[in-house]
Amino acid sequence: MRKWQEEGYPARLQDDLGDGVVQCRLSPRNCRIRPGQHGFCMVRANRDGTLVSLNYGRSVHATEETIETEAVFHFEPGARILSMGNIGCMLNCDYCHNWKTSQARFVADSDVFYYTPAEVVDIAVRHGIKVISWTYNDPVVWHEFVTETAALARQKGIVNLYKSAFFISEKAVEELIPVIDIFSVSIKSMDAKYYRKITKGWIEPVLAATEQVYRSGRHLEVSTLMVTDLSDGEDTARDMARFVGERLGPEVPTHFVRFHPDYKMTNTIRTPVDRLERARQVALDMGLEHVYLGNVYDTEAANTWCRACGALQITRYGLNARLLGLTPEGACARCGTDARIRRIPGPAPARPVVADLPTSEPHDVAGFDWEGDVRAVHIRVRNDAETPRSVYHRRRRSGGAPAEWVRIDLRAGESYRFIAAQSLSDEIGVVVAVPPGCVSSLHQVFDRAHFPTTEAEAGTVNADVTPLPLYVRPTR
Ligand code: SF4
Repeated sequence: MRKWQEEGYPARLQDDLGDGVVQCRLSPRNCRIRPGQHGFCMVRANRDGTLVSLNYGRSVHATEETIETEAVFHFEPGARILSMGNIGCMLNCDYCHNWKTSQARFVADSDVFYYTPAEVVDIAVRHGIKVISWTYNDPVVWHEFVTETAALARQKGIVNLYKSAFFISEKAVEELIPVIDIFSVSIKSMDAKYYRKITKGWIEPVLAATEQVYRSGRHLEVSTLMVTDLSDGEDTARDMARFVGERLGPEVPTHFVRFHPDYKMTNTIRTPVDRLERARQVALDMGLEHVYLGNVYDTEAANTWCRACGALQITRYGLNARLLGLTPEGACARCGTDARIRRIPGPAPARPVVADLPTSEPHDVAGFDWEGDVRAVHIRVRNDAETPRSVYHRRRRSGGAPAEWVRIDLRAGESYRFIAAQSLSDEIGVVVAVPPGCVSSLHQVFDRAHFPTTEAEAGTVNADVTPLPLYVRPTR
């Protein structure tokens, strides 16, 4: 099997310090790296006196999701995106929701998928996806692959989204701004001590880089994970609102995101929703104009209303959005006020749908019923046949007419992964149907921007409603 760390790709942003030592200038950590060693992130190494990227083109499976997955509510709501995640991180947060990929030592060669920039763009084009999202572990440490692929994608009219903890150097941000259209920055806390202790980074470069993006005029949204009893108090909301209102602008959409126990921080509970609601109210009272809750279903705090006439413009349920009162130009459909929602020109490409499965051949059907906090799955389908095939999926509802089947066309040999998330309160689950020659597998999604690595048992439901892989602390 191919070893993912074997080949290096020339890295950008490096200084030669002499005696074969190089300094990486990609993140504020500025690692000084001796020959044969690697940096803190474990994906940039010194090979024969030059810095190389070890994760260029190495990725988790490309996955179709929705833009809401990335805490982006004011850019083409409901858009389908192609999420690309990689290996490594310049931080090491105690609660990391993607620790199986962000911490490179846990990544097995068998977990890694290989893509070229052209292949990523080709997947998006063939599946009618207009946004590529650089996400999950953290795109900062994938700098060369992100910037090269994003530039290629733009030539095809594709928009690039960058979801990051943004512990990044000023020079690296300068290189991103020409190719990235949307920045979704996760500010872990407004407390310097918290940053040092919990994330192993420091706060000042994160805030400076966020301001740099704001000044550039690129689309920016910010979010904060409200960790139970650590950062879910009113002080976090106040400090965040002060930063956004004074150093960015009150129009910048701000998200307070619900936490789930994970990685080294499992001896706690999910953030109580009333604390999130209180945080939102504090930020609104301090003058922020668009404040949302994340990872909370059944809440009006994820909807958008016109700030002039009060009309309901967008409803959101989980990771899905419905546009009710928005013009194609992003204005209120009732009063015409600019909703500050950027739109992608032209009709949104939609998948074909059919009322019934084709009867010309049998289909294998597998399903998952939403339960507890698991209200989404990643579905992977693979066409092992030598000819193109079509697979189908649809939602199951508790009443009314059955939903239509959504068709996905696969090339011979193609593997495709996509998210299915609960989009209505009366939906009970999802089913996927594949013809002979194709296989499917389901992976339970626990909160957004989380790449699940544990496979659910296909065809059965809910054997495990806590699907997260367990972190076992090393004994030495
Ligand atoms: S990107 Fe990696 S190697 Fe470079 S400074 Fe940051 S942690 Fe160090």
